[in-house]
Parts: sequence; C-alpha cells; structure tokens
Amino acid sequence: MKFLLDILFPKICVECGKQGEDICNECMGKIKPLRSQQCPNCRNKNPEGEFCSNSCSKNHNFEQLIVCTHYEKSSPIQKLIINFKYKFSKDLINVFHNVLKDELKKYTKTIPENTFVIPAPIHKRNFKKRGFNQALLLAQSVTKIFPQTQLLDCLIEKDNRIQQAKLDKAHRLTNLKNSIEIRPYPPLKNILLIDDVATTLSTLNECSKVLKKAGASHICGIVLARG
Ligand SMILES: [Zn+2]
Ligand SMILES: [Zn+2]
Repeated sequence: MKFLLDILFPKICVECGKQGEDICNECMGKIKPLRSQQCPNCRNKNPEGEFCSNSCSKNHNFEQLIVCTHYEKSSPIQKLIINFKYKFSKDLINVFHNVLKDELKKYTKTIPENTFVIPAPIHKRNFKKRGFNQALLLAQSVTKIFPQTQLLDCLIEKDNRIQQAKLDKAHRLTNLKNSIEIRPYPPLKNILLIDDVATTLSTLNECSKVLKKAGASHICGIVLARG
C-alpha cells in the first residue's frame, strides 16, 4: 500500500521540489542547530537554556528550555512543521527525529533516570482533524534519544477553549489560563515537556504550572523550533 502511494504521490522536497524525500539532503543541511541555547526570557546566550537571572525566571513555571532550531518564516523547518500539522504528514516524524537528535544527543548524560517525557496536549478538535498529537510523536522520539526516560501522556486540554490560532496574543494568554488538566499520574520529579513550536512560551508555562502543582520539581521544555 505504501509502495503504491509512493508511486502515485511521490514525495517531493518541501524546499526545492526534488522528488524522492520529504526534504532532500541538501535542503536538510539548511536546518541548522542553534549556535547556543538562550535564556528563555531575554534570549541572551546561555549554554544550558536556563534563565540568566531571577528577573528573567519570574512568571515562568519551568526551569530550562532547549530549542533545536530557529523557526523562521518560509524556512524549510516551517514548511515541514506545517505539512506535519496541517497536511497530516505523520511520516515527517523521521525527519524531526534527526533534528531533535542533533541537538539533544549532547544532553544524554545529564538527563536523570526516571525522567518523564510529557507532550503538550492537543485540543480534541485538532486531534479529530489530524488523527495524532504532533507533540506526542515528538515526545516518543525524545524517549528514544534518552533511553533512561519514560513517556507519560498525562496532560489534557479542556474542551471549552477557543482555538489559539484564531486569537491575538493578549487573548491567547487569557484563553490558555486554566485550560490544561492532568490525568492520574505517578509521582513526578524531573520532567521533559515537549512541544513542536514555541513563541510566547504560554503553552509551556501553562502546562508547567499544572505539573508543578502535581509535584514536579524540575521542568525542562524541549521544542523543535522557536519563533
Ligand atoms: Zn531539497
Ligand atoms: Zn535572561
């Protein structure tokens, strides 16, 4: 079946249009890892992606953020993520696995045993449309990169929320407040919280708030790309 689909709809590179792959090797080379991680708030260089001061960490519920690549307009990574989420190209997880691995492999030794890898939740409405939670697929990929971790899909997004994409920035923040719930969970300590793209950090913050209330002590966000 897959073979047949490949003949009928050959894969083409999102960037240059060459046939054969979702992204060709050459264009994959354009997806560059960050030169250095940054303070999640002021974006000054910070090798571990930690907050550089108390004033930067204020109003944030997580401790650290690892970003794998920049999310730039019309960049190959943006096109890939759009295809992943809106054209339902689940196969792209293989490409994203490599992007995650390139950045994350250097942290393998620093991630403690029994760390839970938790995906940001997806609204039911989007799940119905897409058939998968993109953050869950990325989280599965992270557990492969860090074999000492365990996947825990425990966050849910409440039903009554308006779609974030339909709102401006100010309304997105209030809309998100108290919109995340947690399913029954084991004792939580170290968490890797996974999402595809982060811009304002509001989703990561809201998820972290819930996880901290549930007992988590250290939360490190991991995002494929940051805008
Ligand atoms: Zn290409
Ligand atoms: Zn800072």
